[in-house]
Amino acid sequence: MVDRPDAAPRFPGLRATGRGPAWYRGDCHLHSVLSHGAELTVPQLATAARALGLDFVATTEHDTVRGHPEWAPPHSGDDLLVILGQEVTTRTGHWLALGLPPEQQVDSGYGIRDDTVERHLHRVRDAGGLCVLAHPYAPYPSGTSAYPYRWFDAVEVWNGRWSSDLPWNADNEAALAEWGRTLAHEVHRGRWRPAVGNSDTHLAGQLGAPHTVVFAADLSTEAILAGLRQGRSWLAESTGVHLAVEASTAARVAAVGQHLPTGGEQVTVRVEVSGVPSGVVTLHTERGTVHRAALSSAGTGTTRWHTTAGEAGYVRVEVRHPTRQMAALTNPIILT
Ligand SMILES: [Zn+2]
Ligand SMILES: [Zn+2]
Repeated sequence: MVDRPDAAPRFPGLRATGRGPAWYRGDCHLHSVLSHGAELTVPQLATAARALGLDFVATTEHDTVRGHPEWAPPHSGDDLLVILGQEVTTRTGHWLALGLPPEQQVDSGYGIRDDTVERHLHRVRDAGGLCVLAHPYAPYPSGTSAYPYRWFDAVEVWNGRWSSDLPWNADNEAALAEWGRTLAHEVHRGRWRPAVGNSDTHLAGQLGAPHTVVFAADLSTEAILAGLRQGRSWLAESTGVHLAVEASTAARVAAVGQHLPTGGEQVTVRVEVSGVPSGVVTLHTERGTVHRAALSSAGTGTTRWHTTAGEAGYVRVEVRHPTRQMAALTNPIILT
């Protein structure tokens, strides 16, 4: 194979950058001026992503992949991975196709009654892509999803800013509540759908709020999508929020998205947070909210909780502001 370092790839997002296993922050739902109602150009989005310190973004225009070539270097690069995608706006719900082959468009002219969405989901998966149900409770026709969570690989339970003013946070709360209930039902069957959070950026100032922090083997499309698919991820309102969660026995330790074989021993769950002044940390299992702890006015804190696999099949974490706005939430650690 001949190395051609001078030949800039036409399409971004297709190379591993050799940064290795790490937590990477990214926003997988972005619109440029190619989407109706959006005001930012690709160069403006790329500049904003770098200014925020995001490691990756996904391009997800409404029903077009014409923007894929626009993200070629220097807008993508070793410091900013760009995952090629599309927002598929069907008549009865929107979904994100992430990891598409360059300029390969997904059809959107159908609804729940046509029985065709699953065929399109399979096609995206067969090409190595990830199918994410977008904003399932968005309060407008076609934005509200009629599709069940179980048809998708992940669910965008957090779309855009988590407002403290009702009713504008009602859609995120509803999406999260259904996700939590579905998780309790699915975890012990061995297959569950991870949560993701994206900004759905249309306007300046929206990027990264929220975004998803993913543990991946590398900063590449394949590795990031694998991390999202496995739920090795947590959701943050901004890059100023830091969270570390682990569950351990004397012999083993597991992070978010992993299984902890407990051997019947006691489990210690440890949560460390910074960046959420006077915030409230809650731990959740299939039995509901099982632990609550307050953070300092400086926004930092560490809390521990003890359980067993007999008591809890999984544990997940939420961090909220005193106003109840979400600051961070995690996928579960599975206890067996
Ligand atoms: Zn949408
Ligand atoms: Zn969108």
